Amino acid sequence: MQRNSAFQSRVFTEPRRMETQTPVLDPLWMNCLSLFRNNLPEQQFNTWFAPILSAQFDAERRELTLCVPSPFIYEYIEAHYVKLLRAVLTRVYGTGVRLIYKVTTDATNNISMQIPTTTHVPEMHVHNAAPVNQAPQMLQQFDSQLNPAYTFDNFVEGAANKLPLTVGRAIAQTPRQTTFNPLFIYGGSGTGKTHLVNAIGNRLKELHPELRVLYISAHLFQVQFVNAHLQKKINDFISFYQSINVLIIDDVQEFARQEKTQLAFFHIFNHLHQNGRQLILTSDRPPVALQGMEERLLTRFKWGLLAELEHPDVELRRDILRMKVRRDGLSISESVIDFIAQHVDKSIRDLEGVVNSLMVQSIVNGCEIDVALAENVIARTIGLSQQRKDITIEDILEQTCQAFHLDRSDLLSSSRKANTVLGRQVAMYLTQKHTRMSTTKIGIAIGRRNHATVVHSCQSIAQRLTTDADLRTRVSQLEAQLLNK
Ligand code: ADP
Ligand code: MG
Repeated sequence: MQRNSAFQSRVFTEPRRMETQTPVLDPLWMNCLSLFRNNLPEQQFNTWFAPILSAQFDAERRELTLCVPSPFIYEYIEAHYVKLLRAVLTRVYGTGVRLIYKVTTDATNNISMQIPTTTHVPEMHVHNAAPVNQAPQMLQQFDSQLNPAYTFDNFVEGAANKLPLTVGRAIAQTPRQTTFNPLFIYGGSGTGKTHLVNAIGNRLKELHPELRVLYISAHLFQVQFVNAHLQKKINDFISFYQSINVLIIDDVQEFARQEKTQLAFFHIFNHLHQNGRQLILTSDRPPVALQGMEERLLTRFKWGLLAELEHPDVELRRDILRMKVRRDGLSISESVIDFIAQHVDKSIRDLEGVVNSLMVQSIVNGCEIDVALAENVIARTIGLSQQRKDITIEDILEQTCQAFHLDRSDLLSSSRKANTVLGRQVAMYLTQKHTRMSTTKIGIAIGRRNHATVVHSCQSIAQRLTTDADLRTRVSQLEAQLLNK
């Protein structure tokens, strides 16, 4: 989609050279500046765009490098003017321009860091002439910084998330219910906190477009605070946050031991709460376990509702997997889903990782997504939750006999009945696949066949599995049982 490729931004920090530098300003950038000037109140233009030290455009690479005196400037621009910036750059330089920020500091450290791109922001129309005594339309749009991919529609409900989900839906309908203010959601990593709070925010915006809903990670809040402090702009910082109607702060455990940030947040919290604005906070642990946090903040965290996102049970893990498999159009059998759900039991993020790796593996190697592949991927990516006991030929014979309704003596006999032959061949195939036994040893163990018969049987089953869906399901279930034992 075009809006995803309008531009990407990167940030570098480099020491400011001591000699006086003549600013290099690309001629087209001058056009951009006049567009910014025309579309912003003068004071905002002077504060945020005039300080840009230089702008150079590399036409071949289509990269525009803006040199800014402090990270706060680019963060503020990115947070507040991204739509305007995007629209102006597209208009002046055309589409597909990559934006690079260089932060020139006095320090001698040379850090280069990547900031999140703001690619999900839709294109905006730019005003060409100065508006007459009114804020241009785009400035009334408020960037909530919500991730539009996280919604209630793709959040699967289960016992582990019922309470926070129900309350979240209620808040999205009617914010400012004092009993749920603040809503404090806590839970381990990958239990869905970020997804859920974004879903609440997205629904709120749909139902109440007039509200200023803001999602921010505690980490970014902290970075902004420090920069505001350095810039002596704490008042601006606090009054900006006090203007929010629904403030969502993710991962507040990051505030631990940051006394000054906690103080600023304390003021913001009080102001918002007193004015009936909704606060939604997440944390990886409950308030009682938050070390290094001021007592008065902890007390406030408990004023509203504490809701835990528990680790998903196997039922929820299965439902989430089914949803992801359906969404990605993958063909993964129920037995494989079951196997993954059994073994990946900590984080939903891990479940997604496994599904993604499986998809890649099956494409790269052109193979079926079966239990063995799933086991392999899980073992490599997150480690199996319990060290699995090795599968033995004994297990295989026992399970195969059960699955094909055979006695062991039939399986080991020289009977040529179709079902017996099939069961025998499957047992050989599984033994070769899951144990380290040589084909000769397998032959001896399964009815004293020679190794050529074993090789032929294994090839024959492998071949049938590619065309015979019924056999595929039976073998896959058998493997799942063997691996789950
Ligand atoms: P946390 O913030 O608690 O670490 P996230 O919200 O980032 O966890 O969730 C990790 C991943 O799992 C995300 O991709 C999210 O979409 C997904 N996820 C979490 N819970 C659910 C759920 N109930 N239904 C569907 N996907 C979920
Ligand atoms: Mg998170």
